[in-house]
Amino acid sequence: MPLVTMRQLLDEAAAGGYGVAAFNVNNLEQIQGIMEAAQETRSPVIVQASRGARSYAGDHFLYHMMLAAAETYPDIPVALHQDHGNSPETCISAIELGFTSVMMDGSLGEDAKTPLSFEDNVAVTKQVVDYAHERGVTVEGELGTLGGMEDGVGSGEICLTDPAQAEEFVERTGVDALAVAIGTSHGAYKFSREPDGEILAMEIIEDIHRRLPDTHIVMHGSSSVPADIVERLKAAGGEVDAGFGVPISAIQRGIEHGVRKVNIDTDGRLAITAFVREHYRDNPDDWDPRGAGKAARAGQKLICMQRMQELGMAGHAGDYEPMSLEEMAARYTSGVRSAA
Ligand SMILES: [Zn+2]
Repeated sequence: MPLVTMRQLLDEAAAGGYGVAAFNVNNLEQIQGIMEAAQETRSPVIVQASRGARSYAGDHFLYHMMLAAAETYPDIPVALHQDHGNSPETCISAIELGFTSVMMDGSLGEDAKTPLSFEDNVAVTKQVVDYAHERGVTVEGELGTLGGMEDGVGSGEICLTDPAQAEEFVERTGVDALAVAIGTSHGAYKFSREPDGEILAMEIIEDIHRRLPDTHIVMHGSSSVPADIVERLKAAGGEVDAGFGVPISAIQRGIEHGVRKVNIDTDGRLAITAFVREHYRDNPDDWDPRGAGKAARAGQKLICMQRMQELGMAGHAGDYEPMSLEEMAARYTSGVRSAA
């Protein structure tokens, strides 16, 4: 199957009432772990690369590994998404490379740290939407800022999304998906206690979904930071400062109210590192780097298998035929909002 657009994946998820996990990748083993899980659970999936991932792996390595994934698993719909594009140039370069979806994170300036004004956010996002939709490519925007820091992205300050402003933002930019700030953070240390209604503002999601029923809501920083994985990592020699993550029940509640894309990066990283540490702890005579590669793949796969079931995406891979970028471009021109 060719890489599909994120718009189509999310429209289908909305029609089916489930959420789609977006897993971050940097290397071959992560891609393989995700795809093995998608195949076994029959899940459509979003694979995303940050700017850090693109510079780590190299644009062409990353893109061609994703093409190999699509060729190897022809029955699995996969969207390739640019995570946290810091400028129109980053998004345009991803589209030229072959990404089927981009995030223009105009909540922050080009340095990915300084918050941008609402008007400047609208301007840069609209610029990317015009360029992307002409080519059939999906655009995710962001309003409000998350806590924490990941791959150098983050102001460190949480600024919750204002639902009325979200409505104006989507009307003026035409984004397909909107990342909202409801109190989550990037990284392994999100909360110092199990988050409740005072920490996670789920009512913001409900309000935005009422105002914008055709816009797909995105939850960033939505790793659950599983305690058993953190324990295994520590038992195998890791010294990691991990707190509480986002409970699966909060993600599921979000999905009931219009959340369609759920970003999960930290959980994969923690599981990979735990499994690699355990492998060399338990097999000190192994000096084959494939030991690390296999352990990494298994760690990523374990997280993906769980999330694919928990988000309801399992079993939906065969629901639809992929639409081409040309067909999607024609839909945008004709003003049709949903591809499902
Ligand atoms: Zn994010």
